Amino acid sequence: MRSATAVIVGGGIVGAALAWELRQAGWGVTLIEKDEIFAGASSRAAGILGFDAEALDKPGAQWTVDARDQWFAWYDNLQEFTGLSADVERVGILRVLTEHEDVASALALSGPHVRVVARDAMPWADRYRPPMAGALFFAHDGRVDPRRLGRMLERALDLSGVRIITAEPVQTLLTHGPRVEGVVTTSETLRGDLTIVAAGVKARDLLAPLDIALPVKPVRGQIIQVEQPPWWPPYVVETPEFYAVPRSDKTLVVGSTWEEGVESPTATLEGVSSLSRSLQEAFPALSEAPLLQAWGGVRPVSEDGWPFLGPVAGWDGLVVAVGHGAHGVMWAPWTAMVVASMIEGRWDPSWDRVTARRLG
Ligand SMILES: Cc1cc2nc3c(=O)[nH]c(=O)nc-3n(C[C@H](O)[C@H](O)[C@H](O)COP(=O)(O)OP(=O)(O)OC[C@H]3O[C@@H](n4cnc5c(N)ncnc54)[C@H](O)[C@@H]3O)c2cc1C
Repeated sequence: MRSATAVIVGGGIVGAALAWELRQAGWGVTLIEKDEIFAGASSRAAGILGFDAEALDKPGAQWTVDARDQWFAWYDNLQEFTGLSADVERVGILRVLTEHEDVASALALSGPHVRVVARDAMPWADRYRPPMAGALFFAHDGRVDPRRLGRMLERALDLSGVRIITAEPVQTLLTHGPRVEGVVTTSETLRGDLTIVAAGVKARDLLAPLDIALPVKPVRGQIIQVEQPPWWPPYVVETPEFYAVPRSDKTLVVGSTWEEGVESPTATLEGVSSLSRSLQEAFPALSEAPLLQAWGGVRPVSEDGWPFLGPVAGWDGLVVAVGHGAHGVMWAPWTAMVVASMIEGRWDPSWDRVTARRLG
């Protein structure tokens, strides 16, 4: 029997994770990327895996619980399959609290995944200048190096028989009546039982000719990478002004700006200087830290903060997976599982807030 086929547009973490999921479920998969795998936002991310930290901001968000349980198992599976790794570690996230009232109310949250830490318990805090009343520590959260994760996924897709086409922009979706039948690239027409648009912020351009208005806007983020001082703690530090992610290569990834409506991924002097100013004001001891790199990326941010996943009302054969905003790296394996389930006709009521049916 012929296996079902999917053409996926976009080789970011969302498209690649979906390709991996569907391939494992027996689909014939073609992944088309206009540049190279992870060329877009995915390689520009800081790589924070802040499931518990995020759940605190979005109470009742079941996805963070599901996604946390799933992410590390998904990664272990990838690692075993490819023999590669991506600097993944559950180093924890420490969120600085500035007000004593926040510490008092945070005490109510203490549990297996989050606890309150007193300032005195953090030796490095002597070097931190802004007010700090204490901190929250999310012990089970972690970090990944997204560029290395991209190389792992590309290897996994290649080894598992996904057809990967790079440096080939999709120009239009191929339609026939109310059905999407594939895509037209600069050099060929590719047909599939399903066409999946996972093109990040550019998904809008592909869907607009079908009269699908995608409420996803570009928000640029910039990052600087500096040498990590020997006194830096092993975990991610989040302050009201910035976050700093320690990697095992002894660097610190510090981000990020939030620039609404900016489509260019290029880092700017203003972005770099504002990040470096915030970092130095907080930690004057870092003023002499060597600056190693700076980069920018464009987050696909949806209006209501939730991505658009699954089939689109009014179109057969069309699926979207877009709008993961500031959390696509931690969200992608869960997204892949949910979209694959939706395609196979399974539904969970908790997916209502992420369904692409709300586009209609
Ligand atoms: C500075 C910054 C920091 C971040 N930090 C974190 C973090 O710490 N943790 C976290 O979880 N997330 C983080 N994110 C968010 C995360 O990077 C995104 O949510 C995620 O990468 C989105 O993935 P995507 O696959 O939807 O989009 P993308 O990675 O942008 O992928 C879309 C792909 O589609 C391709 N494409 C577009 N149009 C076409 C076309 N016509 N034909 C073919 N291909 C096409 C693009 O080239 C691109 O490769 C951060 C983002 C930024 C910018």
